[in-house]
Amino acid sequence: MNILKFGGTSVGNPNRMKELVNIIDVNQRQIIVLSAVAGTTNSLVEIAALLVAEKRDEARLKIDSLNEYYNQFIQQLFTDELILEKAQQLIAYHFDLINSLSNDLFTPVEEKLILAQGELISTTLFHYYLEEISVKSVLLPALDFMRIDEDGEPDVNYLREQLKALLNAYNDQNILFITQGFICRNAFGEVDNLRRGGSDYTASLIGSAIQANEVQIWTDIDGMHNNDPRIVENTKPIACLSFEEAAELAYFGAKILHPQSVFPAQKFNVPVRLLNTMEPQAKGTLISEVGDADSTGIRAIAAKDGITAIRINSSRMLLAYGFLRRIFEVFERYKTPIDMITTSEVAVSLTIDDTTYLEDIKQELADFGQVSVDLHQTIICIVGTFDLDTKGYAAQIFEGIKHLPIRMISYGGSNHNISILIDSEHKSEALQSLHKHLF
Ligand code: ADP
Ligand code: ASP
Ligand code: MG
Repeated sequence: MNILKFGGTSVGNPNRMKELVNIIDVNQRQIIVLSAVAGTTNSLVEIAALLVAEKRDEARLKIDSLNEYYNQFIQQLFTDELILEKAQQLIAYHFDLINSLSNDLFTPVEEKLILAQGELISTTLFHYYLEEISVKSVLLPALDFMRIDEDGEPDVNYLREQLKALLNAYNDQNILFITQGFICRNAFGEVDNLRRGGSDYTASLIGSAIQANEVQIWTDIDGMHNNDPRIVENTKPIACLSFEEAAELAYFGAKILHPQSVFPAQKFNVPVRLLNTMEPQAKGTLISEVGDADSTGIRAIAAKDGITAIRINSSRMLLAYGFLRRIFEVFERYKTPIDMITTSEVAVSLTIDDTTYLEDIKQELADFGQVSVDLHQTIICIVGTFDLDTKGYAAQIFEGIKHLPIRMISYGGSNHNISILIDSEHKSEALQSLHKHLF
């Protein structure tokens, strides 16, 4: 079976939603994963933020305007009166729910429930549309099989068992299964999500759990480009990437893929194809174990914002052993992952992107030495194949950014990644200048 995931813009208006059947082979047994309609999750995030701030009237206005948007949406999507009526009831149900949540005490539980409505609406609307054009489909509730544990890690065994049971109930060879991306339940059984952009992760987790032939991520661009197309002109799609290369790019900011979405596919060796809904014939990018066997050198650049750099200076570090372990333990206690690290004999610098416990971490680190923190940093990640016998790439990279101040450098951590930390104010210039120099 193939898994096909369509992102927000791919279902971004009624016509787009209708056109999906030109891409999907409706005679094949497949699982279709849908995101919310473009803009909906952003609106729901805004509504939730207003409710957290107890700005209920403003929230109501936003809810009403989103509700009206969907009333128009379904008018354009359906021609069959009975199905339109069903869709009207559906929209009324979801907006009654959103409104009822905004009356009560508003906690993170209600917030996550609100965020889940976008995917619940888009998948049901598409299911109804397929009914209107007489294509058989089954709606699989993601909340019945997608679950994360207390650390936010997906439970793949549970997913496999639950999903297989659901799929086995339908033997037809030509049935389309539709499910929600992004949403899941957490360890307490509450509605939760896989973080922003999480529908890619849903697709890759499902593909891995059922050992799909291929996971296809359909989006609004013709594959993974060699630099961020939102910032740099003349970027180009890359035909083939290895799992390692794609994972580095996704993790370090290439928005086309959710940061964690490559790992399950890599673990279970399921190829991932990035394809363009607006240009279905374009080749896109194939992400697989082999990648591009002939490729050498620099392949792509990505950037991850919102990074905080922490330096611990201590003369006690000199010739000491166990020092780094004790520093890392502080981050472990606060469940805060470290991205980059560089050391000298008397200092260590590292970066984090989750600052929830920054103050506690700083306090504990103060026991080891002098601590300094730099906010608003960006990791520029250069991905390629840098085997031990390659030379010259570092020089090329530094030539490209020699006019910019550098905070940290990481080389040799893997054969696929060279990372440079800079202040975020220099990000655009760094990406553009590197692009000119490297490609
Ligand atoms: P979807 O809603 O389909 O999930 P996203 O907006 O999450 O789509 O991801 C696609 C977008 O990612 C593209 O429109 C592009 O602007 C952005 N993007 C950032 N970096 C890259 C890259 N290296 N290659 C391709 N797209 C990228
Ligand atoms: N709708 C969710 C978001 O906007 C998930 C996704 O699109 O992948 O983050
Ligand atoms: Mg996305």
